[in-house]
Amino acid sequence: MDGDGWALCDAGHQHWGIHGAAGLLLRAPCHDGDTQILLQRRAWWTHHGNTWGVPGGARASWETPEQAALREIDEEVAVTLDEVEIEAVHHDDHGGWSYWTVIARLAEPLSAAPRNRETAEVRWVPRNQVSALALHPGFAATWPLIQP
Ligand SMILES: [Zn+2]
Repeated sequence: MDGDGWALCDAGHQHWGIHGAAGLLLRAPCHDGDTQILLQRRAWWTHHGNTWGVPGGARASWETPEQAALREIDEEVAVTLDEVEIEAVHHDDHGGWSYWTVIARLAEPLSAAPRNRETAEVRWVPRNQVSALALHPGFAATWPLIQP
């Protein structure tokens, strides 16, 4: 992948992904009709390890944000995405570096499990309980803006 590597944005943060990064915010209805989100707890040894966020990672130069987000979740989480419906893409532009959150919907919360070493745990979390978790700082900043 030509996107693997560190980048420095204009705000002075160090980010993973030379061509930016993308993540998939997957949502599905709860039994009570509210929305739940599929969150990933990152392995302790990763950047911001043990925090919760959406599955994602570095974008390759030839990928759209949607392609990158779908590839990343497929690498990190075992979940069937045949019926996924992309609803929106949120672009967080840091200047010189971008993070795209691809918001997508499943008709029901399919079972999901970690698929690679970067993923310690995956869990469907009701929308109103997301903020109570120890969130990845990037996701914590974006969540209030994109909360479905
Ligand atoms: Zn930044």
